[in-house]
Amino acid sequence: MTFLTLNHLQKSFGATQVVHDFNMSIDKGEFVSFLGPSGCGKTTVLRMVAGFETPSAGSIVIDGQDQTSLKPNKRNIGMVFQAYALFPNMDVFDNVAFGLKIAGLPKAEIEDRVKEMLDMIHLGHLAERFPYQLSGGQQQRVALARALAPKPQVLLLDEPLSALDAKIRVSLREEIRQIQQQLGITTVFVTHDQEEALSISDRIVVMNAGKADQIGTPFEIYNRPATRFVASFVGTLNVLDAVVVDPIQRILKLGDTTLTINEDIRAAAGATIQIAMRPESGTLCAIDGATFVGKVTSSQFLGSVIRTRIEVAGKSVSFDSFNDPGVKPPTIGEIVGITIDPSGLILLAD
Ligand code: ATP
Repeated sequence: MTFLTLNHLQKSFGATQVVHDFNMSIDKGEFVSFLGPSGCGKTTVLRMVAGFETPSAGSIVIDGQDQTSLKPNKRNIGMVFQAYALFPNMDVFDNVAFGLKIAGLPKAEIEDRVKEMLDMIHLGHLAERFPYQLSGGQQQRVALARALAPKPQVLLLDEPLSALDAKIRVSLREEIRQIQQQLGITTVFVTHDQEEALSISDRIVVMNAGKADQIGTPFEIYNRPATRFVASFVGTLNVLDAVVVDPIQRILKLGDTTLTINEDIRAAAGATIQIAMRPESGTLCAIDGATFVGKVTSSQFLGSVIRTRIEVAGKSVSFDSFNDPGVKPPTIGEIVGITIDPSGLILLAD
């Protein structure tokens, strides 16, 4: 059931249009991430939903009500920003109670609600601390509790993890997702970090220059990117020229190697098309029977995987293999074999 609808949203700053005809329907309880490079307009769309920016055109509808011209304080929205933005002169309790006091709730009700929120973020024991006495991760959990305390209809998260170090980022994103699911709150999360978006979202909107290039589940976005931009922005990608041998039988030639792929080929025999290959679609193997044989140009030991670059059809291509403690990683200059999983080959539409 659609809960939040963004209809033909546009935004210009002066003569520069930064959001172009942005459309999206978000279901109740859904977690949607806006993912894209710096400057693509993610924050501007989020700020229009919050009411901090007025759309140049289009509308924002929440639970059937047009909110496009409502002031931010008239929208029932909770927001968490990148910088912790807690009130420095208030302790944790008062920070979380802030929205409830503004709403004029009775004291006893405020106390119960703040306690509930602090238990939810496991910081009940720090209610009397001030923001400067908290770690970055703790401050963001308080910011989340403060945003959720007034029971908003929609939660907006603007890169809430980017100021934190890597380990805390991962644990806090799991905690955010768990709380979001527990409360069933409709959430929009802005990030430029593809791993973050893939791990946390029900659906992802990949944004490019003020437009949504693709909207889909993390599985769809990663495995079936709709455009070259999506394919290269989300995950590592090898792009190779292939010559169509037989479009009906789905046979291609990549350098000297003939491959049968799973996707339909919409080009004639003899045409050159571009094919994308994720690093994990190839595995190191014995030279005999390998799909490709090539010289190793780099070999990185990344812990759980080994990323090897190999020359294939005149191009340097990355492949990831799981670490096997019994097998030494390949060395530069070595000739190795790679087998390809054809389901990992993607035909790029543009
Ligand atoms: P980042 O990840 O760097 O925050 P973003 O995708 O969220 O990027 P926005 O902050 O939405 O991008 O900005 C989109 C474009 O709009 C940028 O080119 C930015 O410079 C411009 N922009 C944003 N706010 C304003 C403003 N108030 N006045 C003029 N230009 C603005």
